[in-house]
Amino acid sequence: MAYLPSFYTIMESYTFKSKSLTDTRIFGHTLGLHARAGFVYCLDGDLGAGKTTLTQAIATGLNLSDGEYISSPSFAIMHEYHGEIPLYHMDFYRLYSSDDVLALGFDEYFYKKGLTVIEWSKRAMDILPDDILSIDIQLAEDDTRTITLRSSPIYNSLLKEISKKFPPTHSA
Ligand code: ADP
Ligand code: MG
Repeated sequence: MAYLPSFYTIMESYTFKSKSLTDTRIFGHTLGLHARAGFVYCLDGDLGAGKTTLTQAIATGLNLSDGEYISSPSFAIMHEYHGEIPLYHMDFYRLYSSDDVLALGFDEYFYKKGLTVIEWSKRAMDILPDDILSIDIQLAEDDTRTITLRSSPIYNSLLKEISKKFPPTHSA
């Protein structure tokens, strides 16, 4: 589809390195702690990049109810959890296009009173809301991760918190 989402033109980009699992956990915890209802975190990167691991870290910042453990929702496509605010964890890996998301009605969750986290969000790029935080995770040969964030202004204060902990390796 030749449709270009608006975030490519309006979003700031910010890149930093996760050198360890601990870095990813601190990053994710920060994302959970500062999450607000209606936030949508879009996670992309190859298999094994760390999307599910990052979501588990986000959950620690949301303070999930006892006994709630984040697992990969690949087959179910969506799991809902209960924390400070609800967490809607989606995985679009097995979907062919955004039409599948619309048919399942998952797009309605983007506008509910919780945090949406989507693995493989680019599968449904054309129906994502304008105000997203896009998180691209690139796995390097030395097992570090280069993380690139693109976001609309509603995430500015969150990005400020992240930049305090992770200095940018590149900013555009
Ligand atoms: P995905 O959901 O992107 O397919 P997973 O989160 O399931 O990836 O798997 C990532 C694997 O890489 C996990 O086993 C995790 O422990 C490991 N890992 C090692 N270093 C890191 C890091 N810096 N960030 C995230 N995951 C890491
Ligand atoms: Mg995964």
